[in-house]
Amino acid sequence: MDNCIFCKIINGEIPSTTIFEDNDFKVILDVSPATDGHALILPKKHYKDLNELDKSCSEKLLTIASKIGNGLMDTLGYEGYNIVQNNGEAAGQTVFHFHMHVIGRKKNGESILTWTPHNQEAEIRTEIGNKLKEALTKNN
Ligand code: AMP
Ligand code: ZN
Repeated sequence: MDNCIFCKIINGEIPSTTIFEDNDFKVILDVSPATDGHALILPKKHYKDLNELDKSCSEKLLTIASKIGNGLMDTLGYEGYNIVQNNGEAAGQTVFHFHMHVIGRKKNGESILTWTPHNQEAEIRTEIGNKLKEALTKNN
């Protein structure tokens, strides 16, 4: 894909710190890490986002994610890790080549993912749930 920064990294046109590579994926370190070792799993094939991923790529992805997460824990002393994956500008996606963030975490470390939990009446949740259930069953 022309003008895709991650395709350029995969092709070696732009330098990166690569920590793992196989036929299908390249895993690099994020230039602006949330914590040390913050890794980005890049499929070598250009997919814009999760909706475009093919079955074979999706099937391999979580195996690589746990391998990287465990590598972060074993090597850098993390006690856990987050997987973050943004789809669409509204969700914070800034590079439109699918990627998965793997971020090492320590107890009492800086918080990196937060949201405000809102109170919600049960009837509203039921209404929303029914709407989603109907749509998802139709698309099945
Ligand atoms: P997202 O907001 O999920 O699209 O994440 C894009 C990520 O790519 C951000 O965390 C950036 O810091 C990271 N990033 C952008 N350019 C580069 C680059 N040249 N090398 C490594 N990471 C990059
Ligand atoms: Zn790309």
